[in-house]
Amino acid sequence: MKLKDKNVFITGSGQGIGKQIAIAMAKEGANVAVSDINIENAGAAAQEIRSLGRKSIAIKLDVSKQNEVIAAFETFKNEFGVLDILVNNAGITKDTLVLRMKDDDWDAVINVNLKGTFLCSREAIKLMVKQQHGNIISMSSVVAFTGNPGQVNYSASKAGIVGLTKTIAKEYASRGIKANAVAPGFIQTAMTEAIPEKIREEMKKNIPLGYFGAPEDVANAVIFLASSDADYITGQVLHINGGMYM
Ligand code: NAP
Repeated sequence: MKLKDKNVFITGSGQGIGKQIAIAMAKEGANVAVSDINIENAGAAAQEIRSLGRKSIAIKLDVSKQNEVIAAFETFKNEFGVLDILVNNAGITKDTLVLRMKDDDWDAVINVNLKGTFLCSREAIKLMVKQQHGNIISMSSVVAFTGNPGQVNYSASKAGIVGLTKTIAKEYASRGIKANAVAPGFIQTAMTEAIPEKIREEMKKNIPLGYFGAPEDVANAVIFLASSDADYITGQVLHINGGMYM
């Protein structure tokens, strides 16, 4: 087991990639706090993890709200004591072309994807500095590197996560805290199922491996970065995209 007895906090993990990461980490021996804006989904994921014999709780959390983030990490600290790993996974899209983008849609995506990652990382670092160890893994995206028409807010938020990750890595390496990001390409989840079939088929033509990835592909990369196999890796972005960006 690569994560035996590690305590993990994962945001947006009631479904999709986050849920897959939560369950895969539990199978590697981790205890997991499943947090999500949707508490029913979080509760179901936590139940699934407990049935694997690991400790798990569900926490209702909108990552864009500072008061909720502070309360969630307080709950985590009371339940688990030590925070070994934070996975900043929660993310949303509100796609449209730049000239049609409403301020509210810009703000919503930046607030959840980028500010949420900052707020959770800050609370995590407060605990990790005291412990003198910790590992933060945040979800970027291939579009942070390639751009993508219709995703000016999303691609900017995911590029911001890369800068945030490198800065945290530099600021806190001396305290035993690491920070890395993963940048998935197109992964089969509710987020990509919302894209019309015709466009999805077009998108596959730009993927050398010729198919969308599975949530497991992302979970495997996160487990690698969370494990001692990646002890000497910090401030990096691991790309998981079937070759669509090299
Ligand atoms: P998903 O299926 O939509 O799951 C995202 C989860 O986050 C949902 O449970 C969602 O709850 C929750 N959430 C939404 N707003 C939240 C908030 N303010 N606070 C806390 N939780 C919130 O998406 P996914 O495809 O698994 O994506 C997970 C992460 O990977 C995201 O950061 C995404 O940007 C990134 N990513 C995905 C892909 C892809 O191809 N799927 C590619 C690159 C990167 P509700 O459903 O109730 O809103």
